[in-house]
Amino acid sequence: MNKPQPVAHSHDDIIYPGAIPFVLAHLACFAVIWTGANPIDIWMAVSLYWIRIWGITAGYHRYFSHKTYSTSRWFQAFLAFVGGSSAQKGALWWASTHRIHHKYSDTIYDVHSPRQHGFWFAHFGWIFTKQTQERDYSNIKDLTKYPELVWLDKHQYMPAVVVAIATYLIGGWSGLVVGFFISTVATWHGTFMINSLAHVHGKQRFVTGDDSRNNWLLALLTLGEGWHNNHHYYQSCARNGFRWYEIDITYYSILLLEKLGIVWDVKQPSPEVLRGDRRLPKPIADRAKEIYDALSETVGSAALKGKEALNTATSRWDEFSELGKASVQLAMQDLSHRFDEAAESAAQKTREVVQHASEAVDQAAEKAKAAIEDAAEALDPNKPAYEN
Ligand SMILES: [Zn+2]
Ligand SMILES: [Zn+2]
Repeated sequence: MNKPQPVAHSHDDIIYPGAIPFVLAHLACFAVIWTGANPIDIWMAVSLYWIRIWGITAGYHRYFSHKTYSTSRWFQAFLAFVGGSSAQKGALWWASTHRIHHKYSDTIYDVHSPRQHGFWFAHFGWIFTKQTQERDYSNIKDLTKYPELVWLDKHQYMPAVVVAIATYLIGGWSGLVVGFFISTVATWHGTFMINSLAHVHGKQRFVTGDDSRNNWLLALLTLGEGWHNNHHYYQSCARNGFRWYEIDITYYSILLLEKLGIVWDVKQPSPEVLRGDRRLPKPIADRAKEIYDALSETVGSAALKGKEALNTATSRWDEFSELGKASVQLAMQDLSHRFDEAAESAAQKTREVVQHASEAVDQAAEKAKAAIEDAAEALDPNKPAYEN
């Protein structure tokens, strides 16, 4: 992975045109007022919600981002397609940004941290920032080696379009609005809540240094992803619910796929983790969190100041170089003006000198002529030697 982008991003970095399809998809849900909904539409919406949430949790998250189990190339492509049908961009983009999230959880380098950028920014604002739209896949070389995954990532909305067309063919306009748009928007917010709510509300069993939480309601809505503190503590295992009562449907589905021979090498948390409660005594945990918060704030504000200073320096430099250009231009104009003046006055002087010289020559010539005439007259042989 290249150097992380300092101070991830701010609200100013959001590229708004990129959010237009996102807003339109939300608006499309309101078309249900005109189309209505019949039982088939509702059935499609509910099943497509669960299928696609599963595609995200079992595919995009536990397989592509964390590689918590192994599978065949065919099933891998199938997972990329099902995850892709939820219109959350391609598996490669998703895994790449998610790995950044775990590497820098809740620090200034995190792509979506409620602590750093506020709840709504962590919920969906971050998707539309310049930083996350520029794809840097250096942290997912294990995935980019498969051309079919790269192709699906390039045609990231193709699976969703296929699903949209299918809902229209089955249920007409109400099928499209309810079966596709409403369930897609619900799938989005179900997923996004893990980035926002699961870093704000819930219990922290493990001290992970970040704000990840275990939230049972979110776990039910997202097929097990709500056990997010467990997951941040032990990301490399396929299981997020560590206790029998921590319902984790995605994990059960992975076990079933393992029984069927479709997936293998399912990674498990260590017995100590499953058994133990690694919570620090509360006063120590609180103090650690305080120190962490203070540090993170200091680093964050220093980095922000640095960014501001850089911006100021850049704009000053621009101003300065503009000024520089302008003054060079002025100086050149002045110089050329002065040169013209000097040349003009030199020419004038030369003209005067030439004028004087020519006058002096004329006068000298006059005088010489007169002298010659005088001399000639004096030497005239016809002239009497002495005149009376
Ligand atoms: Zn997280
Ligand atoms: Zn994760």
